[in-house]
Amino acid sequence: MSRPALLCLSGHDPTGGAGVQADIEAAGAQGVASLSVITALTVQDSRNVSAVHPVDVALIERQLQTLANDARIVAIKIGLLGDAAQVALVAGWIDRLRVPVVLDPVLRAGGGTELAGEALQSAIARELLPRVTLATPNAAEARRLAGLPVDAAADRAGVALLTAGCPNVLVTGGDETSDATASVINTWHRLGGAPMVYAWPRLAETFHGAGCTLAAAIAARLVLGEPLELAIHTAQKWTQETLARAFAIGRGRRIPGRH
Ligand code: PLP
Repeated sequence: MSRPALLCLSGHDPTGGAGVQADIEAAGAQGVASLSVITALTVQDSRNVSAVHPVDVALIERQLQTLANDARIVAIKIGLLGDAAQVALVAGWIDRLRVPVVLDPVLRAGGGTELAGEALQSAIARELLPRVTLATPNAAEARRLAGLPVDAAADRAGVALLTAGCPNVLVTGGDETSDATASVINTWHRLGGAPMVYAWPRLAETFHGAGCTLAAAIAARLVLGEPLELAIHTAQKWTQETLARAFAIGRGRRIPGRH
């Protein structure tokens, strides 16, 4: 019997901090095997992204078809997507595979470069949010996807994404650096339940690849059969540990110590 696997649809980050390498390492640390389909190649260092080259959608389709005919895909993690055509393809595969999906909507690099134009952002909001099990935007991404102003409360954005049809939204607060609190507040908004609020000690820096690491760890915990609530908790705890042992690969932000 083949091992159940996590399908990662993500961009490649040559620094190894974010993207598909983060996913594979995060899943591997949970004891979960990854299948990796790369959506875009990027040029970046540990400070910022300077170019994104989407992979041809027909090639992604062939990779997915080939994998689906062979492997046992039991959950999907989606990170950076290259264009709106990829969104449509991925939406179709979510409908076909009918497994839990964790979407980390990547809209802007921590270094400031825009990673999603208007067409891609609205395709993600319209076609993916209603299809996934859980979305894990940071507060800025949640506001953008909800069409709210940059100073809107993060909670308001989380609730708006529920209303837009996403059943579970974990809004992460690591990017809310103007927040005077000593904690990073992550809030899980869920359909039909009260929000769950998690507070983690705010470390003295920001990291490269923290969001990918968390989303992939949650998806891997779902592969292991954990219920969503436990997966969200254990993955946050583990991600916090990876940040505490983060290391530098260059002159910019440090990357999570996933192994
Ligand atoms: N590059 C890729 C391929 C990514 O998936 C991401 C984020 O998910 C980034 C770069 C940016 O990562 P960060 O915002 O942590 O610097």
